Amino acid sequence: MSRSYKIAVIPGDGIGKEVMPEGLRALQAASQRFGFQLELEHIEWASCDYYAAHGQMMPDDWKARLSDKDAILFGAVGWPATVPDHVSLWGSLLKFRREFDQYINLRPVRLFEGVPCPLAGRKPGEIDYLVVRENTEGEYTNLGGVMFAGTEREIVIQESVFSRHGTDRVLRYAFERAQSRPRKQLTVATKSNGIAISMPWWDGRADAVGQDFPGVRVDKQHIDILSARFVLQPERFDVVVASNLFGDILSDLGPATTGTIGLAPSANLNPERRFPSLFEPVHGSAPDIYGQNIANPVAMIWSAALMLDFLGERAAHDAMLGAIETVLAQGPRTRDLGGRASTTEMGTAVATLI
Ligand code: ATP
Ligand code: MG
Repeated sequence: MSRSYKIAVIPGDGIGKEVMPEGLRALQAASQRFGFQLELEHIEWASCDYYAAHGQMMPDDWKARLSDKDAILFGAVGWPATVPDHVSLWGSLLKFRREFDQYINLRPVRLFEGVPCPLAGRKPGEIDYLVVRENTEGEYTNLGGVMFAGTEREIVIQESVFSRHGTDRVLRYAFERAQSRPRKQLTVATKSNGIAISMPWWDGRADAVGQDFPGVRVDKQHIDILSARFVLQPERFDVVVASNLFGDILSDLGPATTGTIGLAPSANLNPERRFPSLFEPVHGSAPDIYGQNIANPVAMIWSAALMLDFLGERAAHDAMLGAIETVLAQGPRTRDLGGRASTTEMGTAVATLI
């Protein structure tokens, strides 16, 4: 039986509209070479253009329209000149994350040949790890409030919420990823010396879940020294798992150590596949460079590759990453990498090698 996947394609705003065609070009090449079908539905909502016409980011029945999809491929959202960022973000992406229970945020971090590294003396291959961030609970809540407001006694309280269900599932996912990699090493971000209730508990859950993964080497590190080691000793890491806040910080810091923001991909996963997962570049809509066809398409293409990996097309993922690797090393390269190629030229070069 032929493999076929239903994909919602949402370019969104700004350079999302310029890099998406390159993501699709690469997917097209992969589907031809590896013999699977993609049923693409092109969607113009979840964009600020749609907002301008309808006063909201998405139609009311957005959830029903996406529920039968195997995955969502997303460009970028945000056009602050016309729609405030919190409106565009909460009206689209954050709804997907919450309502589709995409509780894993995954960011691979890798240093490629041909990309200047901000860390001195690092060689390609020396940085190659995965950051797994809890994406739905933890430190990001609306629980709390201000007492004695406006007085000298003013106190503000903001709660964190960690459920056993929510914690165990992200830890389990991270252990599984670690187990499937050659080094089988998992770093658990913590701060049990300072955050005296939730973090010792989090460490305990890591021990409990780890019982099922005797082959994985576990290493707990406090978030402060862990961040320093992302910069000083990135070669130490294989898979890193963190709570929502710590993971938020690490998943920007990690990619930053490997060069341009135009390379970093991400996945928002519902691993049980009860709902579609979403794949998107880490970068935003970049209004400053939109319309010039100079955006780097690699983050978009790599995100599309992560999507195929999630759908079970591992060989296609590997071929796409190999093509990215070759083009980064040999060119053509976009301006952010010191080259002069357009988005289209770089994207076409990648697709040709798949
Ligand atoms: P967010 O959407 O997360 O709020 P932002 O608006 O803070 O993001 P971006 O839109 O990612 O930031 O842009 C930050 C900077 O990086 C800009 O100067 C932009 O031109 C540059 N940039 C972002 N993506 C790319 C890309 N794919 N290629 C080249 N430069 C990029
Ligand atoms: Mg922005």
